[in-house]
Amino acid sequence: MQRNTRVILRKRPDGTATADCFDIEEVELPPVAAGEVRVAVEFISVDAGTRTMLRGEGFHHQVGIGATVLAGGVGRVIESRCDGWEVGQAVRGGLGVQRFATMAASQLEKLDNTDLPLSSYLGVLGGLTGITAWIGVRCVARPAAGDVFVVSAAAGGVGSLAGQIAKRNGATVIGIAGGERKQKFLTEELGFDAAIDYKAEDIGQRLQELAPQGVNIFFDNVGGRVLDAVLDRIAMQARVVICGAVSQYDDMDNVVGPSMYLRLAERRSLMEGFAYFHYPEEIPRATGELKSWLAEGSIVMPEEILQGIERYPDALAIMFSGGNLGKLMVAV
Ligand code: NAP
Repeated sequence: MQRNTRVILRKRPDGTATADCFDIEEVELPPVAAGEVRVAVEFISVDAGTRTMLRGEGFHHQVGIGATVLAGGVGRVIESRCDGWEVGQAVRGGLGVQRFATMAASQLEKLDNTDLPLSSYLGVLGGLTGITAWIGVRCVARPAAGDVFVVSAAAGGVGSLAGQIAKRNGATVIGIAGGERKQKFLTEELGFDAAIDYKAEDIGQRLQELAPQGVNIFFDNVGGRVLDAVLDRIAMQARVVICGAVSQYDDMDNVVGPSMYLRLAERRSLMEGFAYFHYPEEIPRATGELKSWLAEGSIVMPEEILQGIERYPDALAIMFSGGNLGKLMVAV
């Protein structure tokens, strides 16, 4: 009988989610019930938000101790007991960090006419990556020509696309990311106007040099001291878009809030948060535009793919130490 390999949560992380918080388990596959399909998982998405699901309570779904770690994935149906779902069908959904997912077909999305590699449906076209960037920029941040648009975690999955979309709208784009490799990536490969290395440079001082009139839009993925440094440099009538706060996810009981928020009042500015699923009606348009930009080669979405499901705990650690360029995934 075929067996499943899955990554389960052994204990809740105290701080960084280290490898000893997870176990890799081999279990027997359950039979496929009526209405269900069995999917051979091909790629698993590694997302910053997963860290918040490991803590026991929170905004999103939670992973129980001993349960399979939750994650989006793509794969193909290998067994079906549901009418209309054929073997070989490509699918996307909450497949979890496992080799095979056995679940109700109704919880899955069919991927038809897959003219792109399956991994793209988690990266550039993924809800938690490309679609989030598109919705965050087009529906919430709404940059216009002449705006100074700053994005944090700029070299990651969401940030690298958010900056490219803002550039298409005519904004001057400045990315904040850690390390020299990422500075080069942002300016030389993604075409950002400038980059700030928050690990080696003073963000406020660099913004003063690069945007002396202030920042019109800040698309924040990091929170904490990065958010404060940019708040201190916002222009009049700026917009601060809260996409995420990855610097806070390791210790959600002691979130460091912005101490510079009074700049919003001084500068008649707004702060607005969003989640991509608040804009379901925009997803088809986002998908269509991202696909066409990709086809014409006017955006790029680098992918970093670790081989083997057992690398998933490493992948999370890599993400939280800033090791990834673009979308991080695990190939099963
Ligand atoms: P990602 O940007 O590919 O990876 C996270 C990056 O954050 C790392 O590469 C690292 O880059 C940076 N980082 C990690 N720890 C940090 C720390 N302590 N301080 C500062 N920077 C740190 O991850 P992603 O999955 O695409 O997510 C990016 C953000 O989007 C997250 O905040 C996530 O929660 C948010 N998100 C929001 C939605 C929504 O609907 N609102 C949906 C999906 C994701 P450096 O080398 O630059 O440090």
